[in-house]
Amino acid sequence: MSRFWSPGVEALAPYTPGEQPKDRTFVKLNTNENPYGPSPRAIEAIRAATGDALRLYPDPTAAALRTAIGARFGLGADHVFAGNGSDEVLAHAFHAFFRGKGELLFPDVSYSFYPTYCTLYGIPFRQVPLDADFSLNTEALAGPCAGIVIANPNAPTGIALPPAAIERVLQANPDVVVLVDEAYIDFGADSMAPLVARYDNLLVVQTFSKSRSLAGLRVGFALGQPALIEGLTRIKDSFNSYPLDRLALAGALAAWEDTAWFDETRHKVMADRARLTAGLQARGFSVLPSAANFVFASPTGLGAAEMLQALRERGILVRHFAKGRTRDWLRISIGTAADCDRLLSEIDAIKAA
Ligand SMILES: *Cc1c(COP(=O)(O)O)cnc(C)c1O
Repeated sequence: MSRFWSPGVEALAPYTPGEQPKDRTFVKLNTNENPYGPSPRAIEAIRAATGDALRLYPDPTAAALRTAIGARFGLGADHVFAGNGSDEVLAHAFHAFFRGKGELLFPDVSYSFYPTYCTLYGIPFRQVPLDADFSLNTEALAGPCAGIVIANPNAPTGIALPPAAIERVLQANPDVVVLVDEAYIDFGADSMAPLVARYDNLLVVQTFSKSRSLAGLRVGFALGQPALIEGLTRIKDSFNSYPLDRLALAGALAAWEDTAWFDETRHKVMADRARLTAGLQARGFSVLPSAANFVFASPTGLGAAEMLQALRERGILVRHFAKGRTRDWLRISIGTAADCDRLLSEIDAIKAA
């Protein structure tokens, strides 16, 4: 607390990102980063953009990137919004669509940035409990509300919903925005993007951080009908006209166009997810069915906190959300095949100790 803070700053509940250690090298399976690195074409494009042109501001409309993204979905650039990571896109969406309208609905176990944005923007919210198996009964997302947020696949569970289930939520709540956070969509679930042209209340948010391995570049985007995109743009242009710098615009466009690299790396992650799931199950873990680049797994013998600590001592970082229903579970990002093997052998060593 400082006497210089504006009212409300002390009451914020900031998001805690996963640890980014600086002191030693860990096998980092704690922040859902992609182990394979970005497209070499993206690196090349970033290099080419590094020069005297950096004295000039970037395109404030990100037109080339938005056009390329939209084209992949059969949508015009007027259906695409780009931001500095999808976290910023989410923040602008909360600001633009959910304020001053009553309670926002989202599941009790989901991305922990949602309550943080609600607190920042003064949005009341109601967390709808997932079922005991962590699945989402979408019928429960109904009734008068300011809007609905669904992460699909959900985080940190990894469980995916079929588009038809989310389509019923869109139909049952036609007067509010239904935001579908598809940060992990490219690892095996079906996107709502094909429904954007049909539903004026649908906003789909995706990121380059996970499936395109560009967490460090900070690029995310939203797909929606032009009225929603215009709302987001009004917020953006009242906040920061240039959220994407020249390097981000160049790198993201090249990464988007390198579909071969994208497909090769995401399929490796999916194959290793299947192997890691089987390996963890063989060691007594409960593992939820994941369509993401991580698994949510509950150890036996040791508690989740003890397992996290034992792995940390052996040089492996995983993530634990130590409160409430997720207390017995660990979120483990899918690394390389070698990372997954190392994790399994360290678990064997921990159990033998
Ligand atoms: C990682 C993640 C994001 C944010 O990603 P950015 O790096 O900000 O693009 C958004 N939603 C969920 C559910 C995530 O896991």
